[in-house]
Amino acid sequence: MTLPDPALVVLVGASGSGKSTWATERYRAAEVVSSDALRAVVGSGEQDLDASVDAFAVLEQVVAARLGRGLTTVVDTLGTDAARRRRWLEGARAAGLPAVAVVLDTPAAVCRSRNAARDRPVPARVLTNQLASVATATDELQAEGWDLVSLVTGGAPTEPGRLSRNTPGSGQPEAAATVGRGPLPGVLRGQGSGLRGVVLQLSRFPADGDLLAWLRDMAGAAEAAVLTGIALMDHLIQIPQVGRAWDPIPEPWVTLGALAASTTRLQLGTLVTPVTFREPGITAKAAATLSALSGGRAFVGVGAGWWEREHTAYGLGFPSARERLDALERGIELMKALWAPGTKPYAGRRVSLPETTSYPRPVGPIPVIVGGGGARSLRVAARLGDGCNVPSDEAGLAKVDHYLELVRAEGRDASEVHATVLDLPLVGSDRDDVWARVERHRGRAPAATFAARHHAGTAAEHATRLAGLAARGITTAFVAPVGLTTPDDVLALAPLASAFG
Ligand code: GDP
Ligand code: MG
Repeated sequence: MTLPDPALVVLVGASGSGKSTWATERYRAAEVVSSDALRAVVGSGEQDLDASVDAFAVLEQVVAARLGRGLTTVVDTLGTDAARRRRWLEGARAAGLPAVAVVLDTPAAVCRSRNAARDRPVPARVLTNQLASVATATDELQAEGWDLVSLVTGGAPTEPGRLSRNTPGSGQPEAAATVGRGPLPGVLRGQGSGLRGVVLQLSRFPADGDLLAWLRDMAGAAEAAVLTGIALMDHLIQIPQVGRAWDPIPEPWVTLGALAASTTRLQLGTLVTPVTFREPGITAKAAATLSALSGGRAFVGVGAGWWEREHTAYGLGFPSARERLDALERGIELMKALWAPGTKPYAGRRVSLPETTSYPRPVGPIPVIVGGGGARSLRVAARLGDGCNVPSDEAGLAKVDHYLELVRAEGRDASEVHATVLDLPLVGSDRDDVWARVERHRGRAPAATFAARHHAGTAAEHATRLAGLAARGITTAFVAPVGLTTPDDVLALAPLASAFG
């Protein structure tokens, strides 16, 4: 069973029931607030009962402060004081955090023998009272309004340090990464589903050093991790959401050509090319060329463009939103006309061409993914495109549902389109690493807010989350991990690749 995270987790159990061990195996040290440990901080040692009042005063302050920041807090005390439990529960409610009680239901005899083995055992009579209080508390918990009361039947042999510290509540070791195994996306799968899976979006590039060598290394890692593809943003100036204006952002079609030369399986394309940058015929030519160079691995993400600054700086016009969306519709229609077989004239709803002579031919169809969650973008995606792209949050997922309805309303087969999301995960190797990365990258955002926005977690946890998206009909996650810089960062994404089956 997996416990919610972040959460308030209140342990309930007698001395020797295994509370501290359970907490240490699953949470970071800073997340566990222990009355014993605080007795050793404000008093002479963990068993310094004279220090209890001071220790609990500190404990209450730490619990309130952490909950107030939305941070996971594991309260390691006997847990038998109903008034304290109620206060902690209220603190969690006020912070909007789920509240979990974990009862270490270890047999009395086991607690007694573990207690006896300790340097300073609790007197036998005290332990007997504790066991009775725990039994009472266990009954009381049901009526207290906890989101979850979890019974850990203790006494089972555990191997401290061997259990996963990555998935709170789970005793299972982390699933091993399957680097270099599994189906080959785009080769074994049908044309229409070639984009299914995890597409790595590269959005930050090294400021110095050999750009081509870096790209090759990153792409090699993406192929080794069995990712589906690589997508590049199409911006003239690095966008503030990603970096500083003077950070390098290479032209995507040139760069994709280089990637085509150094890869054999990855789907390659933009996310997204604004119609305001190039006449769509030129984009059609670039994408067809990329398709020819790569053996049919090209896709085109398109959008209406949004950042006025880069247009002005490069001498490009930046028409009204309505005109840009008109251009998006015309652009998709024009690209598809040029990619279609033959050279015959084209007369469509928005576009007329005297001929459609475009060679080299694309190798197979080039999927057009329309970026943007606005009402009109979704309509354009459903009517003219082959897929949509929206953020992976709940609002985005609702838009995907709407998009798929629009696709069906157009009389199209919803199973043949790409329902894609943009996901910005923070991926760490274990719980400690995850939170070190949160702290490194959060800037001025509160840690809990930043962690939630980026679903901060291990690759195994992201794989589970993405599998949930796949179950909701998402076909492709364009993934732009926070702080991704090295091929090792890409290899760490291998567990995510299996999420889409
Ligand atoms: P607490 O007093 O409830 O915090 O209990 P601890 O977590 O300190 O555990 C007491 C003793 O039992 C320690 O020596 C632990 O190593 C041991 N222990 C805790 N949990 C387990 C378990 O699941 N299996 C085994 N074999 N020993 C455990
Ligand atoms: Mg303990």
